[in-house]
Amino acid sequence: MTTALLPTCEKQRLQALKELDILYLPLEDRFNPITRTLCRLFDVPVAYLSLIDDENQWFKSIHGLDLINTPRSDALCQHTLLEDEYLICEDMTQDPRFADNPYVTGAPYARFYAGYLLKSRDQNVGTLCIIDTKPRTFSQDDLNALADIASWAQTELNLTQISDAHVQLISELDEAYQQARIDSLTRLWNQGTIKQILHRTFQRHLLNLTPLSVLMIDADHFKKVNDTYGHAAGDKVLQSISSALRQALRPQDAIGRYGGEEFLIILDDCEPRQAAELAKRILNRVRNLRFPDVAPDLKITLSIGIAGSSARGLESETDLMDLADQALYRAKNNGRDQICLLLGEEAAD
Ligand code: GH3
Ligand code: MG
Ligand code: MG
Repeated sequence: MTTALLPTCEKQRLQALKELDILYLPLEDRFNPITRTLCRLFDVPVAYLSLIDDENQWFKSIHGLDLINTPRSDALCQHTLLEDEYLICEDMTQDPRFADNPYVTGAPYARFYAGYLLKSRDQNVGTLCIIDTKPRTFSQDDLNALADIASWAQTELNLTQISDAHVQLISELDEAYQQARIDSLTRLWNQGTIKQILHRTFQRHLLNLTPLSVLMIDADHFKKVNDTYGHAAGDKVLQSISSALRQALRPQDAIGRYGGEEFLIILDDCEPRQAAELAKRILNRVRNLRFPDVAPDLKITLSIGIAGSSARGLESETDLMDLADQALYRAKNNGRDQICLLLGEEAAD
């Protein structure tokens, strides 16, 4: 297979990518509107935003294929990195760079490729691409539209607003370790990681006296979902719930899978009342989810316990989690499908 040469500024490129600091984060929903728009606009089955490090291509958002990463040697976009701005290939079977690529000879049987470079610190860190399964032409107007959307993607890419606790954690972990920190079913942080993020966020909260809120979320009657539709369907439902939760959050919020059908969301610098508003939006979002392929007729509800710590609030994250647990317990006892908010001073019973 044709492996691309390394770009001349490969070292600087990898450094720029490292400084961007978002490579090994789970998939990020903030890029999804971009890839969705591309598929719609160009009427193609696949669009993605990816970053390419020395070994792998990492998908930050991908529409039409279910991938987290691929080896760089297989990546269509390794060839785009050698260009100044973009690479268009109207029929990949006719191009020696692509003709024997596994994504051309096998699923998704790519035929057309257009990729636009995304830059950070003036270096080509990634690409925004569309793929079609039949050859097609690409006009100057098409190219202009792709360039406009790539510019949107690049702005979003460089807006690394994730919290300091997030960034610190990410920069301390190497790739393999990082992978082990993500829950494989939901692609959210796993329990150990989200606890670690909470610990660090709480330390900052004590130091800076900014408000901190957490949401402890539990899916209602989930056992019944498995009993009625099977465990595999239950897994798909959990994935949909996770995705809906992620989409409701700001980039700086952290979310993890805390247990089987339990999730923890950490809202740094967020007043409990604002957290309650967010929790209500989450309830609505999840109530409106439908699962026609795996669980027709199923409607899911959540119970959410919210705990908040203000400037003169709780002394430890354990107190905060105990409070969130108590709030969740009350939401369940009061009939489920609701939120319950507890502040430090109300935690009497
Ligand atoms: P409640 O409203 O009180 O929370 O009821 P519940 O049925 O959700 O609570 P319970 O704790 O009794 O059951 C949780 C269920 O979640 C049981 C378990 O099989 C299911 N579950 C946990 N993890 C997974 C998973 O990874 N996949 C699937 N499909 N089900 C899971
Ligand atoms: Mg539970
Ligand atoms: Mg439950």
